[in-house]
Amino acid sequence: MGRWLTWVSDQRLQGWACSQCDWTFPIPSLLTDPEAKSAYDRLASVKFREHDCAAHGKRGTTSTEEGFAERARKLVVRGFKPKDAAEITIQEILLEHRNEPGAAERARRDAEDFLRRVKDGLI
Ligand SMILES: [Zn+2]
Repeated sequence: MGRWLTWVSDQRLQGWACSQCDWTFPIPSLLTDPEAKSAYDRLASVKFREHDCAAHGKRGTTSTEEGFAERARKLVVRGFKPKDAAEITIQEILLEHRNEPGAAERARRDAEDFLRRVKDGLI
C-alpha cells in the first residue's frame, strides 16, 4: 500500500506524520521563519523516506478530524489547482468551526504552509 506524508495539526501533535503508521516528525514550536520551515520540511521528507512503517505501530485513529493539508491534497488529486483547493478548504473549515475563536486564523496559516509546500514540491 502506498504511503505519503500527511500534515497533522491538533492539540496532540503539530508536524508531519505517515499516512500508514505512527511515525511522526513534530515541528519545533519556535519555528516561525519561512526558510527554517522549508528546511524542516525537507528534513521531514528525507526522514520519511528512511522510516520503516513496520517498525512503528499502526496509525492511531485518535484524531477524527482530517488535517488541512490532507483535505486540500484530496482536492488537488481531484483536479483542483492548489490555490483553489486551499481556498475551498479554508471555507469548509470556517463553516465547521464558525463558533471557534482562532479557527479562521489557523486555517489561513495552514493554507499558507500548504501552498508553500506545494511550491517546494513536497505535496
Ligand atoms: Zn510509516
